[in-house]
This record gives sequence, C-alpha cells and structure tokens, in this order.
Amino acid sequence: MANKKIELKGLFPEELAQQVSNMGLEKYRTRQLIDWLYNKGVTDFESMTNLSKAVRVRLDAQFKLLKLNRIGQIESASKDTEKFLFELPDKRRVESVLMRDGKRRTLCVSSQVGCPLDCQFCATARMGLLRNLTAAEIVEQVLYAQRFLRARGDELTHVVMMGMGEPLLNFDQVIRAIRLINLDYGAAVGIRRITLSTVGHVPGIAKLAREKLKIGLAVSLNATTDVQRSQIMPINHKWPIAELLSAVRAYCDQIRRWATFEYVLLHGFNDMPEDARRLIDLVRDMPCKINVIPWNPIEDAPFQRPPQSAIDRFVNILTQAQLTATVRYSKGDDIAAGCGQLYQEMVSGQ
Ligand code: SAH
Repeated sequence: MANKKIELKGLFPEELAQQVSNMGLEKYRTRQLIDWLYNKGVTDFESMTNLSKAVRVRLDAQFKLLKLNRIGQIESASKDTEKFLFELPDKRRVESVLMRDGKRRTLCVSSQVGCPLDCQFCATARMGLLRNLTAAEIVEQVLYAQRFLRARGDELTHVVMMGMGEPLLNFDQVIRAIRLINLDYGAAVGIRRITLSTVGHVPGIAKLAREKLKIGLAVSLNATTDVQRSQIMPINHKWPIAELLSAVRAYCDQIRRWATFEYVLLHGFNDMPEDARRLIDLVRDMPCKINVIPWNPIEDAPFQRPPQSAIDRFVNILTQAQLTATVRYSKGDDIAAGCGQLYQEMVSGQ
C-alpha cells in the first residue's frame, strides 16, 4: 500500500543502513543513497543512475522520497531576504525565509503548518494549527536552501527554528530534524549555529535541556509583567514569567550557553522606559542577550510599530545597564517574510 512506504529523508544513517540490509542490498548502497539524497538532492529513484534498474524499482516500491514543491518565491527589495513557499505532499503549505547578512546565510525554518498558540500580534496564529511537520519536511526545507545557495557558489551557515509554528510542540520531529541537519552528510550546519525559538513552553524547555544538544535557545518574552504578557500571549496563563525564567536558567546552566530573549516591541504597550527597566530586573542575573524586534504590522491587529525614537530609547536603557541588546530590523517585511508575518496568502491559496 502506498501509505506504508517509508520516507527515506527522515532517517538517520544507521536507520537507512538497516533498511538497506533488510532489503538484502550490499552495505555500500547506504553510502550511495546518502549521496543521492543529501549531496545530489534527487527526489526520485529513477535518477539514481549508479543503481541498477532492478534495485531502483525495488526501492521505489518500498520507500518514499519527499519533494517540496516550491510554488512561490519572492525576494525583498533589498535582495537580502528570500521567501520560499512550499507545497507539502498533502497540499498544505509552509514557508521558509533565507536571509543574507554579511557572511551569514540563515534559513528560518517552519516546524508546523500554522500554530496553536494564539499570540495576539502574530499572523501565523490566525491559521490555527493545521498539522505538525515531519522531520523530513523540516530537513528538506534546509536541503532546498542549501541546494539553492550552492548553485550560486554560496553556503548555508545558520538555521533558526523560528518560522511558522511552535517547535517544542512538535518535539520529536524537530529534534530528529535538528540532528539530521547537523550531520556531516546532510546540510552539515554546526550545532552551535542552530537556534530554536520557543513561545516559552516550560516542560518543552526542560525536555530540550535533557537532549543535551548544544543548540541556541531563544525565548519570546515580549512583556515584563504577567498581566501584560497574558494579554498578548495566552500561554502565559499556563507558564507565567517566573516559571519560564527558571526553566531558561536551568537550560543555560545545563548547556552552558547564553539564552536569547526576544522582545517584540509594541508601541504604547511594552516600549516605555519602565518596561525596559523591568526587563533589566528580570534578566539581570542571567547570561543572556536581548533581541528587540520592532513589531511587523499585520492586518487588523490593535498594535502599532514603534517609531525609531522609541526603539532607540528602549535599547539605550538596556545597553546602559550593560545588557547585550540588538535590534532585529526584520528582513523582508516588504514581502511579508518578517517575524510573525509568515501567514498565508496560502490559506486562500493565492
Ligand atoms: N513559536 C516560536 C517561533 C515562531 S515566532 C516563538 O514563539 O518563539 C518567532 C518570533 O517572531 C517570536 O519571537 C515572536 O514573538 C516574533 N513575532 C511574532 N509575530 C511578530 C510580528 N508581527 N512582528 C515581529 N515579531 C513577531
């Protein structure tokens, strides 16, 4: 039956070797398959020309090879951001965003189709959760970008799990994908160059610490009191700020890396000097960076993007208190590829 076919792209090398051995094929076939899948990036067995026709037919009968159909691609006016719209095998759609910054080439990857979390300022939230992505679907976003860059003599250097969805709510597939992305034969992105951004799912952060992966952790804090945070992020009712911060502290102790706190700046809501001062008090004793993200407008949301003067005022207060703070001027906001704008055109299918 077609659906019983195993997807090869989500398998670890030893699992692939097991499949090859189950079929009674020679061991070196695993290497060949890996080369076709990851270096040459083929998406059908027919193209694997160093395998005999008979072997190709047998592989085809047992296995699937994921292909993401790129149905849209736009480049920002500044040419430093490219958004890919992919159609998955079930016709659902996700986006990835490729950003160039100096020597960095960063891919922002989606982990779910939509998102269940309902953050009030985010466009993806409006889709609700349609489904989780498989590890293969996450990995293939990265491999696609890698092939895209290599064709231009360039290389992917960083991956951020900051696209559509909440990665910690798709834990197993996301962790599998991270390990695959990191493997030498895959996209070979260094583990310290992979960052996962979470809404602040406390049990997920604790579970992530137990994986002992040295990935970066980014946490969307976005507010400094529980009343304020609950207003824009319903998840805060479940895991309020104090609990969240102690989970992040534990993660940093375990992994020995600084955390990043993302802080979406909403004018007149959380961009006042007293907000900055409360933020300093909250994170003062933690090894961390603050990533200030001026809100990218989405339709019909009751927020305003702060003017430059409010952004500067906020960041200056942080840096004067010796915090490391940077402003993420969202790349690609003219193509709706800025943070939280990865929403669909898609739903309506345009
Ligand atoms: N679910 C994860 C990852 C996806 S959101 C998380 O919550 O972290 C990635 C980042 O974009 C988060 O920091 C989020 O707070 C921010 N964000 C969402 N909508 C935004 C918007 N409209 N403008 C700017 N940043 C936004």
